[in-house]
Amino acid sequence: MERIVCKFGGSSLAGTKEFQNVREIVEADPKRRVVVVSAPGKSSEEPFKVTDMLLMCAQLASAGFRYDEIFEQIAERFRKLNYELQLSLDIEELMREVNQHIASGESPESCASRGEFLSAKLMADYLGWDFVDAAELFLFSSEGELDEKETFRRIVEVISPLDRVVVPGFYGAFPDGKLTTFHRGGSDISGSLLAAALEATLCENWTDVPGLLMADPKIVENPKPIRHMTYPELRELSYMGAKVLQEDAVFPLAKAGIPLHIRSTLLPEDPGTLIAENGVQSGIITGIAVKKDFRVFTLEKMKMREDRGFLRKLLSVFESNKVAVEGTPSGIDSVSVIVSEEQISGKLDKILEEIRMYCHPQKLTTHPDLALVVVVGKGMIRTKGVAANLFTSLARADINIRMISQGSSELSILVGVENEDANRAVAALYKAFKGEENE
Ligand code: ASP
Repeated sequence: MERIVCKFGGSSLAGTKEFQNVREIVEADPKRRVVVVSAPGKSSEEPFKVTDMLLMCAQLASAGFRYDEIFEQIAERFRKLNYELQLSLDIEELMREVNQHIASGESPESCASRGEFLSAKLMADYLGWDFVDAAELFLFSSEGELDEKETFRRIVEVISPLDRVVVPGFYGAFPDGKLTTFHRGGSDISGSLLAAALEATLCENWTDVPGLLMADPKIVENPKPIRHMTYPELRELSYMGAKVLQEDAVFPLAKAGIPLHIRSTLLPEDPGTLIAENGVQSGIITGIAVKKDFRVFTLEKMKMREDRGFLRKLLSVFESNKVAVEGTPSGIDSVSVIVSEEQISGKLDKILEEIRMYCHPQKLTTHPDLALVVVVGKGMIRTKGVAANLFTSLARADINIRMISQGSSELSILVGVENEDANRAVAALYKAFKGEENE
C-alpha cells in the first residue's frame, strides 16, 4: 500500500487557520495516510509554544508553586481550537487529565508530551481518522535509549492494519509505562521512525520554511533553494550548521532508503527540498556552509611517519581529555589537529604538555579563530576545475586560506580561513558557484 508519512511542525499547528491549512494539505493526496503532529507552536498571534508552557508548569509544580495561570492559557488555546474547528471532543475532561498529570509530579518530559498528545487528539477528530497514542509505539529502555527493534515491531503491528492515523510526535514510554521524550524538536524523529518502520513511499516534513538553501540567508542575500540532494550531502551541510530538521531524524530514513521531502505549509505550492539516497539528478555544488571557532594544533617532526603509533599517541591525548577531533590534515613531516574551541576550553595547557610528553614534536604551535567553510556537492567528483574555481574566487576576495581538506568521498571540500574572513568566504564561494547548483 502506498503510504506517505507527513509530519507537521509546531508553527504549522499554532491555531485554527493552521489546522485548516494542514487538513487541506493532507486531503490533497490520498496517499497521505499517517499524520504526525507537534504541539501547537508560535505564530504571529501566539507568542508561546505549548511545549514551553507545559515545561514551565512542570517546573513550577515541582517547586511547589502555583501554575494555574499558565495552565489556563494552555487550556484556553485548546478550547479555542476545539470550538472553532467544531470538534466533538470533551476538551474539559482532557484538560482535567493533563492538569492531574502535572499536579501528580510527573517528570518534565512527561508533562511536555501532553502538548503533542492533545494536538493529535484534536487533529484525529478534525480529520475523522484514528488516533494512536505514541506511548504504545515508541519504546524506550529504562536508561532512556530508544529500543528501535521493538518500536518498529510495534509500529508495524499497530499501524499497518489501520487505514489512516494521527500519531503524536516527540514522546514514547519507558518499560514501566511512564512517559519520556526525544530531544527538543523530536517529532521529526517520530515521523522518520514511522516512515522507516512502515516502509513508506515518502516521508514529508512540513515546516515554516520551504526547505534548505544553498547558503545561510544571514550571510548571502536571497540564496537559491536546494531542490534535490542526497542524504550524505544533507549530513555534511547539517553538521556544519545548516539546520531545518532534527539531526537524528535523518538516520532512520537514510538507512531505510526512504526519500524525505521538506516543505512549507505557508507555501504549499513550493517544490521544497527532496532528499533521497539515489536517483537524484545533481549539479556540481549543492550548498555552502560555515562553522566558526575552531583551533588548530600543528606538529612538525622529522621522519614522523617512521614513528609507528605516532598518530595514535597524538589522538589519544585528545581522547583522554574528552575532546572530539574534527580533522587531521597532514603533510610529510607535519600533521595538524582541528578541534572546536568550545571543546578545548580550560584544557589547552594540559593538552599541549601531554603532546610534548608523548609525541616529542620538534615544533608545536596552536592557532585559534579558525573557521571551516565547506562546499558540498555530489557533482564535484566528475567535474574538473572545481578546486581551481574555489581557490581563485577566495584569492580574488583577498581571503587567505589556512588549510584545505577534501573528503575522501569527494563529496565536499573544506577550507579553513580566519573567523573574521568566514562570511566573506561564503559570499565569494556562493557567487562563484551559484550558477552550478542542482536543478
Ligand atoms: N514540541 C516539541 C518541541 O517544541 C517537539 C517538536 O515540536 O518536535 O521541541
